[in-house]
Amino acid sequence: MCGIIGIIGREDISEELINGLTVIQHRGQDAAGIVTLNSRFRMKKGQGHVDKVFQNFDIEQFRGKCGLGHVRYATMGSTLEVDAQPIAVNYPYGLAMVHNGNVINFKEVRQRLYDENMRLLDTSNDVALILYTFAAQLEKKDLKHLHVDDIFDVVLDVQNLIKGAYSALTIIANKGFLAFTDPYGIRPLVMGRKLTDQGVVYAFASETVVFDYLGYEMVRDLQAGEAIFIDNEMNVHSKILKQEKQAFCVFEYIYFAREDSVFHHRLVASERVKMGKKLAKSFKEAHIDPDIIIDVPSSAYFFASGLAEEVKIPYRRGLAKNQFVGRSFITPTQKERENVVKQKLNPIKDIIKGRKVAVVDDSIVRGTTSRHIIHLLQEYGADKVYFISASPPIKFPCIYGIDMSVRKEMVASHYDDPQEIARVIGADAVVYQKLEDLQELYHDLPICDACFSGNYPTGITPDILKHIELEKINSDRN
Ligand code: SF4
Repeated sequence: MCGIIGIIGREDISEELINGLTVIQHRGQDAAGIVTLNSRFRMKKGQGHVDKVFQNFDIEQFRGKCGLGHVRYATMGSTLEVDAQPIAVNYPYGLAMVHNGNVINFKEVRQRLYDENMRLLDTSNDVALILYTFAAQLEKKDLKHLHVDDIFDVVLDVQNLIKGAYSALTIIANKGFLAFTDPYGIRPLVMGRKLTDQGVVYAFASETVVFDYLGYEMVRDLQAGEAIFIDNEMNVHSKILKQEKQAFCVFEYIYFAREDSVFHHRLVASERVKMGKKLAKSFKEAHIDPDIIIDVPSSAYFFASGLAEEVKIPYRRGLAKNQFVGRSFITPTQKERENVVKQKLNPIKDIIKGRKVAVVDDSIVRGTTSRHIIHLLQEYGADKVYFISASPPIKFPCIYGIDMSVRKEMVASHYDDPQEIARVIGADAVVYQKLEDLQELYHDLPICDACFSGNYPTGITPDILKHIELEKINSDRN
């Protein structure tokens, strides 16, 4: 998971780009970067949070009417600066790109780029695979008389050649600005617009919170397999190219996105409340009797409040959170994750002591974070601790850019019975959302739920799966 932003207008957009990145910082904390176009591309990127990368930054050099921004969360590739985005090539025209997602046929794409185009990639970042493929296909066109249909043809070539999940933004120097998605629309991409004294400005981003913050009105989500091209006269061209049945990542609603973002007309906070209410079914079936329901702050608040309302058990804030520590799930290694949890959460003694506590979290992946939270609550005097997961058991790796790519690390891939998992993580009981209950909420929005069901929308071979797992193990060791 990464966060991307792109803006094209008639006046300088550089400050908006950086400010927008701070709003989607939750989507990646390993690296951040921008590129703007004036007489040439100006690029700045580095490791760490947006405020660190752009500290003492001379924005004057970066003034431009068009630009891209990225916050990186490393799933594949290293956390080195060379793998940060954006990236650019100077031919044809000058192209710059950012993307969010994961290419799954990277070996094949890398080989083709070498065999057919003599391009040897100097980065393990898969945005290079997309950009170089795009550039290679664009080179085949009549570059003196490039038409918008040529650009759409090139996107179709990319969609045919590259498998996986990708939402990508591209600047084609002196031609315009391009946004496109993979044929399944797995990763989010939204389009916004605003009017200024100079005319219309268009923005694209991973989440609508960017628009709220920067004063854009939401236009719409990009559809699966769609490309939108905005030419230098600010005319908008759009076309659905290669489209399969949509498979929007349901984990955006569960965890990744901010609660005030909206995808496909659904507010994330409301989706979480609905999931909390749905949880009531498994909760009742488990015959547990907590005195209070608490949440693991902050993404689980809406699940917990929805559940509490439905089962009529009081909700309490039972864990205090240090706001200045990052998200544990998106820190790269297990050791760092454990440290983050220790620094981040502290039980509120008077709420917990002597009570049977049902603690709600968005999910249980490895079980180590859950075990630590349960242990903390027990230390602070909880009589019983029931652990409630708003998502179904995570049993399969995500191959689409989320850091859940090693199956043997997933506690639910080892045990089918929640009571076994309760024993492993030290809880008195574990309750999971049922997959069919989650799916019921999305009968009218086709979702990807492969990490629960093993049904990968793009298909997958055991070879690729193994390779993705190995890459993940190696990057964890680095
Ligand atoms: S496998 Fe899970 S995390 Fe990955 S895209 Fe699908 S729903 Fe999202």
